[in-house]
Amino acid sequence: MAEPHAVVVGSGIGGLTAALALHRKGWAVTICERAPVTDPLDLALAIAPNALRGLDALDVGTAVRKQSARHGVAALRRKDGRWIVRTGPAEAEERFGDSVRVLRYADLKDILLEQLPDEALRTATTVTSVEPGDTRQLARVRTESGELNADLVAVADGVRSTVRPALFLEHPGAVYAGFTCWHTIVPWPSEYPLECGESWGAGGVAGVLPLIDDTVYCYATANVPAGGTAKDEKRELAQRLHDWHSPLPELFASARPESVLRSDIWHVDTPLPAYHKGRVALLGDAAHAMTPNLGQGAAQAIEDGVVLAQHVNGSMAYVPTALQSYTDARLPRTAALVQRSAQLAEAVQSDSSFVNGLRDTAASIAGRVAPGLLGRYVRPIDDWRPPG
Ligand SMILES: Cc1cc2nc3c(=O)[nH]c(=O)nc-3n(C[C@H](O)[C@H](O)[C@H](O)COP(=O)(O)OP(=O)(O)OC[C@H]3O[C@@H](n4cnc5c(N)ncnc54)[C@H](O)[C@@H]3O)c2cc1C
Repeated sequence: MAEPHAVVVGSGIGGLTAALALHRKGWAVTICERAPVTDPLDLALAIAPNALRGLDALDVGTAVRKQSARHGVAALRRKDGRWIVRTGPAEAEERFGDSVRVLRYADLKDILLEQLPDEALRTATTVTSVEPGDTRQLARVRTESGELNADLVAVADGVRSTVRPALFLEHPGAVYAGFTCWHTIVPWPSEYPLECGESWGAGGVAGVLPLIDDTVYCYATANVPAGGTAKDEKRELAQRLHDWHSPLPELFASARPESVLRSDIWHVDTPLPAYHKGRVALLGDAAHAMTPNLGQGAAQAIEDGVVLAQHVNGSMAYVPTALQSYTDARLPRTAALVQRSAQLAEAVQSDSSFVNGLRDTAASIAGRVAPGLLGRYVRPIDDWRPPG
């Protein structure tokens, strides 16, 4: 019998994880990626313990640990540098069995891609429409360079998905979360002792995550209208961060201007009615884009890919039925995380000094007096284990 065939739309972390999970279960996989090359952007990602377990299930966890730096789950400061909460990697390892790992986005993609057959990825291949199929009819994927039939289509085309609105006409789509995020990777300045952490100010945060190769991933957020750009993003950032604690202004000042990127934050704040239709499954940001505050967007995309492959491991005729169980397994958890992340975003992006005072005090009490509270906040997220 011919091996089952899956078409994956998009080669972000969600698409590549789903492709690898399906490949491990014996599927032939075709990944359609609209970009001509896989990933030119120099970004970094924090990979939480739950996502690491998903990557372990695909036998790539060791490679990820090797190429990443260890961090704790919470290290928060005020804008003036005073600590609110400080937990290290050892505490995370004790509580969750693993620390948070930070690595370059491109390295994570390479680790996943290396495990897939060369012919699996088709770059410069934009998917223009998807017919979902049913128990009797295969799904059909149209691209600019031809059509593909599939037993399963895994749609991971990101927060601005074009497949999602075509499948769920009534859904309002992704909305702007009200803030933008600048990010860059800079050389590690040997004159500063660097600690990983996020600093909370009025109307934004700024964070520092050292990587393993003597470089540091830095980011900062601000409440601005969607779609804005500055002539010089580095200068814009310098103005916004000039009175934040050291070494934040110095780190951003050391960035190459062209390396400072700006991403408006969009999220799917109204849950979809389902994460499937016919033989099509949605995953990652296409299904449940969330604000980056919990550091769980890519983590949930990884969980999705692992769970999807587990559910469609039976008869090909019953893929649509299996996808109902995929929706049941993924929708409640991810929809709750979208909401939780949005609530956290609202608190950390607040411009009100009264709200900020309450927020910092609550986080500080949770961290110092009752560290168990902090554990209880992140445990249901970080404790996830792959099925089976
Ligand atoms: C500033 C910022 C920081 C973040 N930090 C973290 C973090 O530390 N930890 C974490 O877990 N998450 C983090 N996230 C979230 C995380 O980056 C995303 O959730 C994750 O990368 C989504 O992956 P994805 O594969 O679903 O979508 P994407 O990465 O958006 O990939 C979609 C892919 O589909 C392709 N595509 C789109 N349309 C088509 C089409 N029609 N045909 C073919 N291909 C198409 C695109 O070119 C792209 O390659 C962060 C997000 C932001 C914005």
